Amino acid sequence: MTTYKIALLAGDGIGPEVCAEAVKVLRATEHDFALSFTDFNVGAAEYLRSGDPLPEAVFAQLPNYDAILLGAMGLPDVRWPNGIEMTPQLDLRERLDLYCGLRPVRTYHPADSPLKNGAVDFLLIRESTEGLFVNRKQQTPPGARQVEDTLRITRTGAERIIHAAFRAAAKRRSHVTLVDKANVLPSMAFFRAIFDEIAAQYPAIETSRVYVDATALYMVQSPARFDVLVTENMFGDILSDLAAAIVGGMGMAPSADIGDRYAVFQPSHGSAPDIAGKGVANPVATILSAAMMLDWFDAEPTRTAASKIRRAVEAVFADPLRRTSDMGGRMSTSEMGDAIVKQLK
Ligand code: ATP
Repeated sequence: MTTYKIALLAGDGIGPEVCAEAVKVLRATEHDFALSFTDFNVGAAEYLRSGDPLPEAVFAQLPNYDAILLGAMGLPDVRWPNGIEMTPQLDLRERLDLYCGLRPVRTYHPADSPLKNGAVDFLLIRESTEGLFVNRKQQTPPGARQVEDTLRITRTGAERIIHAAFRAAAKRRSHVTLVDKANVLPSMAFFRAIFDEIAAQYPAIETSRVYVDATALYMVQSPARFDVLVTENMFGDILSDLAAAIVGGMGMAPSADIGDRYAVFQPSHGSAPDIAGKGVANPVATILSAAMMLDWFDAEPTRTAASKIRRAVEAVFADPLRRTSDMGGRMSTSEMGDAIVKQLK
């Protein structure tokens, strides 16, 4: 029987609370495979303890694990001397070359969407190593009168993310939408030209090209037009939050950051310090991220377990009273985890 070794980086704020429920749910799926979890301290609390939010001794061990399950990182009051928040999760993306940000967006019950037709199901793919985040660590000289950010698109970066989108669409409804701003930004015209080249290699996949501003409109007006969307880092960052809003909020938005060798699975939300320690955080985004991890292991038993988790969430959500407070319900974090485990059994 295969044992998958998971590095657990629960992190700050609600991270440990939602991770505990994901582990509980994962444990309930161990039948034809086994999981082992090793905890690592990473994040703002670790910075306060050791002066480094992602200690080298921890980073060096991560490649020994089959996957990384992450809760949330960062606290508003814990910042670098230049005022920027700690974001070891972004460092992990860059250092492990996790270029492919997968954000599945679907409603588990249509009534949870603020949209009239709440049946939403698409996959947003966000390039996660370049784009407008490329010089996020640049220092601003004291007294600067002008500060610039760069939107970098490399051919290699564009090709690999666009291929990932076409491969994902082949397993879904065979449609890819390129989200860009090719009418204004030269980097985006370059991105579109590469998209067009690659699209020609996938004749069975339909394509659309939509500007990012129009994408925001269509996500609210007619999300059913989307199957797989692919875009640069910052556009993907912003659209992911909009996408979360149409399926019930940040507590329902799972994510995975995948490279050719390593992968990190984590909810799309942050550490939510306003509700940390109260036992009210919605653990579903983390539980669904854990299901993505089982899919990524790409073995028949783990893929089956991932589908079972999604079906269990759907079964729990069939009852409108079974919701955490972010979705108007009264369940606590652990009650939601327990309900999903019960459904699995
Ligand atoms: P980041 O900058 O890391 O994205 P943030 O502080 O901007 O983080 P989040 O922590 O993602 O934003 O969350 C914003 C708000 O949404 C939180 O303060 C919280 O009220 C709510 N929220 C986020 N995640 C959850 C969750 N799992 N369950 C319930 N409410 C949540």
